[in-house]
Amino acid sequence: MKITEHFQNAEKTQFTFEILPPLKGENLHTLYNHIDPLMEFKPPFIDVTYHREEYMYKQRENGLLEKISTRKRPGTVGICAAIQNHYKVDTVPHLICGGFNKEETENALIDLHFLGIDNVLVLRGDCVKNESRFVPELGGHHYATELIEQVVGMNNGCYLDDEQLNTNGTDFCIGVAGYPEKHSEAPNMKADLRWLKKKIDMGASYVVTQMFFDNQKYFDFVRLCRQEGIHVPIIPGLKPLTTKSQLTILPSIFHIDIPTDLADAVEACHDNKAAAQVGVEWAIKQSKELMEFGVPCLHYYSMGKSGSVRKVAEALF
Ligand code: FAD
Repeated sequence: MKITEHFQNAEKTQFTFEILPPLKGENLHTLYNHIDPLMEFKPPFIDVTYHREEYMYKQRENGLLEKISTRKRPGTVGICAAIQNHYKVDTVPHLICGGFNKEETENALIDLHFLGIDNVLVLRGDCVKNESRFVPELGGHHYATELIEQVVGMNNGCYLDDEQLNTNGTDFCIGVAGYPEKHSEAPNMKADLRWLKKKIDMGASYVVTQMFFDNQKYFDFVRLCRQEGIHVPIIPGLKPLTTKSQLTILPSIFHIDIPTDLADAVEACHDNKAAAQVGVEWAIKQSKELMEFGVPCLHYYSMGKSGSVRKVAEALF
């Protein structure tokens, strides 16, 4: 079922979350152990993130540098199909521009469609760790807008093969990312919102936000989106803080602010167990206010650990 249909059918705010494919060498049971504790809260769908390979250079004996791929994770297509079969729940694979040319993207979309996966979250993807700016693959896409164009094209039966031997279209529901605190590369919020509007005008049906810890940032963002003519559902993304070190790590990776009250409370904790408890209480407070605001669903970033998300869900769903 399409994500937008889940929103339309919902009588109250729904619980959803996203998982990271485990690192190479792990198996499906690692993933199920993470998902199992969250299934009793009846998520209508589960997002599966995609992570580009990272690489390092190693000097050979002849002095030349060899590029070695590291941190490869199993592919999102297979993981989504496994989850969908095992739990009978919809999955949303994250589809990124980085690391894929158009042909590889088309092949992934053909596989997803064949497997009955009707939803994709279309993203540009982040830069590779040792690069300072995003570099697209040769023959790949520079921005999420270009990737949306390809997915919409396939929905209309347009494949890269211009002989058009098979004009049966796909039928993907497209979600995109939005940034209540602005995307780090956008010159200002206005410019960022114009590109977000473009993504919607090109065929995206809903937005999922970057994590935020101050609901006012979300409320302001929704107001600005509506003023810009963006009228699709805007799903808030929440992350319960789980360690003291996240006070500095999360702002540096995601370019977001941690409110003073939350930062002070976490700072005062003696250990990570206490910090995680503060994180859970903060996320519950945020969630309650967002539910009152009437959001169709709350989307939790579990980042490979389900414990805190489960505690939040126990209090609310
Ligand atoms: P875009 O929409 O392409 O925007 C990138 C920047 O360019 C913005 O500053 C925007 O203002 C500007 N811009 C947009 N379109 C154009 C255009 N046509 N011309 C010029 N400028 C333009 N990353 C992963 O690698 N894997 C994941 O699974 C993943 N999941 C995510 C899930 C969510 C909900 C969110 C919020 C982020 C996720 N990310 C993920 C991170 C995301 O890939 C990065 O934030 C990335 O830097 C931007 O992606 P985007 O799709 O927002 O890019």
